Amino acid sequence: VVTDKGKTIECNVVGLTAGVAPNIDFLKDSGIEIGRGVKVNRFLETNIKDVYAIGDCAEQHEGIGSRRPIEAVWYTGRMMGETLAQTICGNPRKYNPGHWFNSAKFLDVEYQTYGWVFSERGKKETEQHFHWRHLEEKICITVAFDKDTNQFLGINTFGIRMRHEIFDQWLTENKDIDHVMTYLKDANFDPEFYKLHEDAIVAKYNSDYNKNINPKKKSWKRIFSIA
Ligand SMILES: Cc1cc2nc3c(=O)[nH]c(=O)nc-3n(C[C@H](O)[C@H](O)[C@H](O)COP(=O)(O)OP(=O)(O)OC[C@H]3O[C@@H](n4cnc5c(N)ncnc54)[C@H](O)[C@@H]3O)c2cc1C
Repeated sequence: VVTDKGKTIECNVVGLTAGVAPNIDFLKDSGIEIGRGVKVNRFLETNIKDVYAIGDCAEQHEGIGSRRPIEAVWYTGRMMGETLAQTICGNPRKYNPGHWFNSAKFLDVEYQTYGWVFSERGKKETEQHFHWRHLEEKICITVAFDKDTNQFLGINTFGIRMRHEIFDQWLTENKDIDHVMTYLKDANFDPEFYKLHEDAIVAKYNSDYNKNINPKKKSWKRIFSIA
């Protein structure tokens, strides 16, 4: 790749991330308020009665919490659909997406995120990251927590599948990172016979932060009490 500054970057593979832009030109003269997407309120209503927008094309007047006004991912599209179905069937419901989460697969790399793990540039002063990476395989996790209160803020995983319901509950209950490490085995969702890495992850956490956490054995009773 030759950059606009004339620098040459040697590489084997080039990945282009084009982003998502709602194709809403056909609505320009319709009277429906548009911005980058179709403007909606928390009920997913446009400015015109009985006209709604959901999914990739919907743009909230203001992002909900730390979310972006347009959320071009599958899970939020589904939640918007479920919400709007209630409204249309006479049970008006606000779009309330809860804690941020997403999962994706790129070739053989699986990625999941629950809660917020901001980049170095975007993170708040009190947000601290614990990182563990497998020595040979493409497997790693990053856990964000508040360095003053130890409150768990979010997790990113590459190559390990986690349970959505468990992280959702831990975020709702403002659990701290020590709790997450102690019960991390409950959160694992990898299929049978997959290698498990929680002991190695917690050992690194103990060593990084001078802790002495003993990870609890996975408990189906605890898992099903949440899921
Ligand atoms: C390559 C790729 C990978 C992705 N991976 C992930 C992922 O791993 N995880 C994740 O959460 N999300 C992922 N997404 C995003 C996810 O696919 C979208 O958020 C989701 O499909 C949006 O659903 P939607 O119904 O809002 O829109 P769409 O699925 O785009 O459906 C819109 C439909 O409207 C039709 N249409 C458009 N204009 C008109 C018109 N004028 N008249 C009639 N019909 C029209 C289109 O043909 C289309 O069928 C990915 C997207 C892409 C492109």
